[in-house]
Amino acid sequence: MSKKPKQIIPRKTPMPEQPPAERIKNYDEVPYGYTPEQAIAEAKRCLECARPLCVEGCPVNVNIPAFLKLVAEGDFRGAINVIKETNALPAVSGRVCPQEEQCEGKCALSKRFESVAVGRLERFAADWEASQGTPSIPDLTPPTGKKVAVVGSGPAGITVAADLVRKGHHVTIFEALHEPGGVLVYGIPEFRLPKAIVRREVEYVCSLGVKLVKDFVVGAAETVDELLEEYDAVFLGTGAGLPWFLNIPGENLNGVYSANEYLTRANLMKAYRFPEYDTPIARGKRVATVGGGNVAMDSARTALRLGAEESIIVYRRSREEMPARAEEIHHAEQEGIRFELLTTPVAFHGDDNSWVKEIECIRNQLGEPDGSGRRRPVPIKDSNFRIPVDVAVLAIGQSPNPLIPKTTLDLKTGKDGVVIIDNETGKTSKKGVFAGGDVATGGATVIMAMGQGKKAAKAIDEYLKTGQW
Ligand code: FAD
Repeated sequence: MSKKPKQIIPRKTPMPEQPPAERIKNYDEVPYGYTPEQAIAEAKRCLECARPLCVEGCPVNVNIPAFLKLVAEGDFRGAINVIKETNALPAVSGRVCPQEEQCEGKCALSKRFESVAVGRLERFAADWEASQGTPSIPDLTPPTGKKVAVVGSGPAGITVAADLVRKGHHVTIFEALHEPGGVLVYGIPEFRLPKAIVRREVEYVCSLGVKLVKDFVVGAAETVDELLEEYDAVFLGTGAGLPWFLNIPGENLNGVYSANEYLTRANLMKAYRFPEYDTPIARGKRVATVGGGNVAMDSARTALRLGAEESIIVYRRSREEMPARAEEIHHAEQEGIRFELLTTPVAFHGDDNSWVKEIECIRNQLGEPDGSGRRRPVPIKDSNFRIPVDVAVLAIGQSPNPLIPKTTLDLKTGKDGVVIIDNETGKTSKKGVFAGGDVATGGATVIMAMGQGKKAAKAIDEYLKTGQW
């Protein structure tokens, strides 16, 4: 008997969230998450395609149709177990993945209607599990006696650690900061990714037997070569924490921050919880953020929550070319952030006390596409104008920190200092050393870092078993 065609529900089940006027006065998470009823209704929208392209769109290949089916049946435990087979950080990726370019972008529904809200459902399943108390621990392989050092506790390092500990290897993560999680704790703000969630997911990985050593800077406390004396393999997941600057006049004025410093002060050092935390941060009335990615949206939205009356995004191309997640741009617009598009800063001007007071900019028009495939900004002659500001934040990109390559001479690096790897295995130029995530790609995404972590974990396991490089 042929299967009855499914009734198409064209739109996503709306996500309940804090109203914009309220949320810019607090740091609480913006979307509240689905209720079980909403999750079931949304999961039932899945068309159960014979060839599910959504899985191909996911860099860690979560079995999306299987978990959606279980959610639709109300088997939330089953759903989270399916997700966790391939994704150690589901509450994180459900919140921050650019789903519109990945799983949801490939959803058959998205050709004519709104895709299934895979990210929201992944988040729902992970949060549901957390609400039930202790998560279930998967079966672990008996100990192999092999030891792996993972450098960095961001999404790449956590993924490698989770996969290798499940294969019976002894894993130690070395983290430079006092809190694990990488950008998830020092960069992405609480209102987008509550830190309790990151902590919960890191604790889950540690509960599998991974050892975490904090406040340990590899390259200073110990070199990679020294680690290799004790460990059978090393994975570098050290991210891209070195901010880029515009190299224009006035950039060293007071009140001009890199987004990295601004967000670290606000998030990791908890400036937003003043006076409980007395972390110095300039709280301007008019704050301009330069850039159009997630980092820029986070900085501009943080500025509002730190009390700015006006928060402005200055971006050199048009809205269409903005690399930020669609939801972040949408939320920023809802919150009243002003977008100065097709605009490039050319100088910062200061007052007599060397505090920034204006950004001088030039207008652009769009030219031919550049190497990134996006249309190039072309400056319009004599179009200079000035934006009055008290604080400026630069969110224009970042590269890997050079410390480890500098102290590991046979580790090859490429453009902007990225560690060169084999894309299928994460192998570097140095025997026994693997790498993945932003340190190998430059600033990218959480799920790409996790995807590379998974490939590296597989290759490390093979290397540990065979000794073949
Ligand atoms: P990281 O997360 O950078 O982690 C690297 C870790 O290594 C850090 O904890 C660091 O302290 C540690 N480390 C560095 N050097 C050493 C050393 N020498 N010794 C020991 N430890 C060391 N991506 C998305 O998909 N969605 C988003 O919405 C999104 N928003 C973002 C917002 C901001 C503000 C930023 C900065 C990035 C955002 N990204 C987003 C990008 C994403 O966070 C990164 O691509 C991802 O975190 C990279 O993971 P990683 O594990 O490679 O590195």
